Amino acid sequence: MKVELAAVYGFCPGVRRAVEMVEEYLRKNGPLATLGAIVHNAQVVEELSKKGARVVERVSEVGEGAVAVTAHGAGPEVFEEIARRGLKLVDTTCPIVRRAQEAARKFAEEGFFVLIYGEESHPEVRGLLSWTRGRGRATLNPADVPSDLGDRLALISQTTKGREEFWWFVRAVVERLGPNLREVRALDTTCPETGRRYQAVLALAQRVEALVVVGSRNSANTRKLAEVARSTGRPTFHIERAEELDHEWFRGLTRVGVTAGASTPDALVAEVIHRLQGLGGEG
Ligand code: SF4
Repeated sequence: MKVELAAVYGFCPGVRRAVEMVEEYLRKNGPLATLGAIVHNAQVVEELSKKGARVVERVSEVGEGAVAVTAHGAGPEVFEEIARRGLKLVDTTCPIVRRAQEAARKFAEEGFFVLIYGEESHPEVRGLLSWTRGRGRATLNPADVPSDLGDRLALISQTTKGREEFWWFVRAVVERLGPNLREVRALDTTCPETGRRYQAVLALAQRVEALVVVGSRNSANTRKLAEVARSTGRPTFHIERAEELDHEWFRGLTRVGVTAGASTPDALVAEVIHRLQGLGGEG
């Protein structure tokens, strides 16, 4: 059995940068708190916790020292509270998320109502909404958009959504609210990294008989990657750890493809490849 890796897989630059910033702080300065998991991956969080990174939900739980904002970013009130409490800030907000936050802030300040194509409960979207200072709303369903948002509307996207989905949403909203609108701005704030992983798994699916997707089940981007893999019709196995691999899945197959979500560390992917080779595959 031949094992082939997707051309693009695993940690995206934003997550890699966040993990490196936290590791560097731990090495040079000692323990710190992180506002939520720095990456949606239990093993990475466990590794970082051994080195002194404690996960907290709120700034108020941090007595003293340093606190890291994750790559998903946070709202302005979080940064204000960190400053007010005299804590040291390690800001790992991904530059692509930062750009979306800036757009949300600017549009709201210019008097637009900001409509975000995204999941309201996702930490990144909660942060984006905060940057609108009450002049924003998030949804994935154009039918949920109320018609009384004013006549100036700005649309942006959660970074991990697809570019085409975003433009579909823009068109559907404009069609729905059209007569009420005087001015509409739409800015594509999606991140190309997520799309690159989807394209790579689609290409890989052409060359293999089954796909293994590695990453946490609570990582939205890994779940979506598994969905894209399944959409190709190839048998797809979403696993969190190499030990979950079952040789029965691969009986009679000659080519298996492997990919990983943007929050999956390289070491975990390497373990999966190693184990697949042990099941009779070759790298
Ligand atoms: S997926 Fe894109 S926006 Fe999200 S952390 Fe990675 S690089 Fe940044």
